[in-house]
Amino acid sequence: MSTDSEKFSLKIPLALKCSKCKEPASPKIHLDQTSFDWTCPKCGFVHPSLFGLDVTIGFLLLERSRYELITDKDFSMSIVMSAMAFESELSRLFGKWKQIDALRADQDFDREACEKELRARSPCLNAFGRQPETAPCSPGRCAELSDPISTRFQSIRLGSLAKDFQKHLFWPRNQILHWGDAQNSYEDAAVCYSLANMGLLILRKMDEERRKQLES
Ligand SMILES: [Zn+2]
Repeated sequence: MSTDSEKFSLKIPLALKCSKCKEPASPKIHLDQTSFDWTCPKCGFVHPSLFGLDVTIGFLLLERSRYELITDKDFSMSIVMSAMAFESELSRLFGKWKQIDALRADQDFDREACEKELRARSPCLNAFGRQPETAPCSPGRCAELSDPISTRFQSIRLGSLAKDFQKHLFWPRNQILHWGDAQNSYEDAAVCYSLANMGLLILRKMDEERRKQLES
């Protein structure tokens, strides 16, 4: 007999450190899990409800990307996961704000129409239609679980965020998935990981700004 969570095959290995004995561990959770209790295998310390509500599928996919990068050293898979993480978060927020707009206009939310609009647009350009004034480049909250990944990559410019994300995150993903060109190096994957991580931070910031505007 299988439990509900076993139906989901995409697993996310987390890079954790016990807050009591500092022993590192990488428990695996499922993609649909946004909260879980974790017991340290060494000292038995229980960390209850490890995540808050702000842990999204995008965040978990990024963790999988990190695992592929650091532990499994499957650099192409890491790139695919990074791009998926960013795309997932873009789509989630797009849908979320469409829902809020519908609610405020006293209309029914049309999920099909929303999906259609998403498919028709370039996901990246769509989200960065309005660019944030400042890019939060510090590792910030997304890096709480472990250390940030450093790269020598420096070519993101604030004025062309959308294009840069496409070129340096989605295009490498497409090379792998469309052409089977999967000869990626650690540095290639680290760049994509860092970009996706930054993208998630920027999206979070944009989401916060929009929430503030709604409240004022
Ligand atoms: Zn421990």
